[in-house]
Amino acid sequence: MTSTHASTDLALRVCGISSDAAERIWQGGLDAHGQLPVRKVAQGMANPCRHCLNLITPGTPKLILAYRPFTQLQPYAEVGPIFLHAEPCQHYDQAQLPAWFAFLEPALIRGYDSDDWIRYDTGQVVPGSVLSKTCQQILSDLSVAYVHIRSKFNCFQCRVERAHAD
Ligand SMILES: [Zn+2]
Repeated sequence: MTSTHASTDLALRVCGISSDAAERIWQGGLDAHGQLPVRKVAQGMANPCRHCLNLITPGTPKLILAYRPFTQLQPYAEVGPIFLHAEPCQHYDQAQLPAWFAFLEPALIRGYDSDDWIRYDTGQVVPGSVLSKTCQQILSDLSVAYVHIRSKFNCFQCRVERAHAD
């Protein structure tokens, strides 16, 4: 159980919610509360789509739904509101956070174990500008499986994990 820390310039993998989950919604499926998504016109710039991680253009339709960013039901599997583009979009899977995450003021961040339980030693409230560095710090502990980033409203934004070596 020695050497549990990776280097601090750790390569990251940032992912939107799975395309399977988004497709289910776009095809008329129910959300995590068993309800149909609510369709609204996006207003203002604070409407991030959790599949492509782009901001939904004001004046275009968005879906609002309850989402659980965990596959298994267990005590730490929180459900909360998210937005999606109303029409299918491209899945986000990149080595860096979208640039607009720098404007999350503040952001909530915390790590999870491989059993999807919160790692209480990792939870932080940080300015968006230091999110990447904070992800690297938390994930440098190899016993942390992944990180979730949330807004100050506790709305799930995205998952960040260690990039797999090729
Ligand atoms: Zn989208």
